[in-house]
Amino acid sequence: MKILKFGGTSVGSAERMREVANLIHNDEPKIVVLSAMSGTTNALVQIAEKLYLNLNEEANAQIDALHDTYKQVVAQLYTSENKQKQANELLNHHFEYLRAFTQDLFTVHEERAVLAQGELLSTALFQFFLEEQSINSVLLPALNFMKIDENEEPDVTYIEKNLAAELEKYTGTNLFITQGYICHNAFGDIDNLKRGGSDYSASLIGAAANASEIQIWTDIDGMHNNDPRIVKNTYPIAQLSFDEAAELAYFGAKILHPSSVLPAKQKNVPVRLLNTMQPEAKGTLISAESQGGSIKAVAAKDGITAIKIKSGRMLLAYGFLRSVFEVFERYKTPIDMITTSEVAVSLTIDNPKNLEAIVSELKTFGQVEVDHNQTIICVVGDFMAERTGASLKIFDALKDIPLRMISYGGSENNMSMLINASDKVTALTKLNDGIFERNTAHA
Ligand code: ASP
Ligand code: MG
Repeated sequence: MKILKFGGTSVGSAERMREVANLIHNDEPKIVVLSAMSGTTNALVQIAEKLYLNLNEEANAQIDALHDTYKQVVAQLYTSENKQKQANELLNHHFEYLRAFTQDLFTVHEERAVLAQGELLSTALFQFFLEEQSINSVLLPALNFMKIDENEEPDVTYIEKNLAAELEKYTGTNLFITQGYICHNAFGDIDNLKRGGSDYSASLIGAAANASEIQIWTDIDGMHNNDPRIVKNTYPIAQLSFDEAAELAYFGAKILHPSSVLPAKQKNVPVRLLNTMQPEAKGTLISAESQGGSIKAVAAKDGITAIKIKSGRMLLAYGFLRSVFEVFERYKTPIDMITTSEVAVSLTIDNPKNLEAIVSELKTFGQVEVDHNQTIICVVGDFMAERTGASLKIFDALKDIPLRMISYGGSENNMSMLINASDKVTALTKLNDGIFERNTAHA
């Protein structure tokens, strides 16, 4: 069994949906996981914002606009009148459901139900299309098996058991379609795996089904060695280990949701990143194997806040760091980077939501400084294999850029530097010239 996940752009129009149907039309057993059509989740987020503010007229106007977009898709996608009718009835059903929210109290529960409509629509429309093409497939409702627990972590046992039960109902079926992103939560409400979460769905489903491979189909030919939006002449990385891919996904490579590496790694299911627009391209294979011997990629993560705690007391006395970490734990705020010295500890967070409260608690330990607008530059590769020389190349490339923090040795795969966001473009460009210039063979 293979899992094939198609992102928003890959199902973003009638034309693209047809392409996806072509790509999946063979006898290989598979579960196809779809995102919402591109732009839909963003539109639903905006609609929810309006509903929160009780701006019902504006919400309705946006709902109508989205409905119109979908009507056009329906007009373009199906050839038979019968399917057009069926699909339009489906649209009416979902958009009436959305319009109903304008009449009532709007809370986070309603918001999640609103956000779920994108994936429910894309999968249902796609299933209708397969039916019209006489391609035998079954639409599996993700809400029947995808679940998160009280800590908003996937309930892996539940997913495994319930997915197996769903699949068992359809022995002899080779093609299943299901929704990415959406799930139930511990309280039985509709919920989601956070923005971009369809990759995570695919990985969880792949792990639960013990799949032979998880394919993530997007609109770029794999994970690149540097940010293609910023640096010219980047190239797709042919192979990455699970750990290298996790570092890259977490520290900036937008192509893969950071959480989606772990479930695959735990069950040792290879993940292949492929391009719907260029299906023959090799893409990136992520597996337990490490090719070693090189710096593989550079990525940047923006929106970082750095916090420095200077303490008059013996900073590294035992127990001190624990007290600091407990503050972050209380506010459910993950720490990305950390460096220590005898008199101070610096760390970074990417979620400043509780920054004020965190800082005021940290002040009980000493003097606290906060720097906003920071960027983590992350260099990923096999530093075990390239123990000597790699850092020289990296720091030489960055010699004109002020480095606020440096982190190395946390894993064998990552060296991270914290810089001002305004230096990001220079840093990525200089690193590209300094590290990858001799790798032209890839280009
Ligand atoms: N549709 C959701 C989003 O836009 C989930 C996904 O596409 O992965 O965030
Ligand atoms: Mg995505």
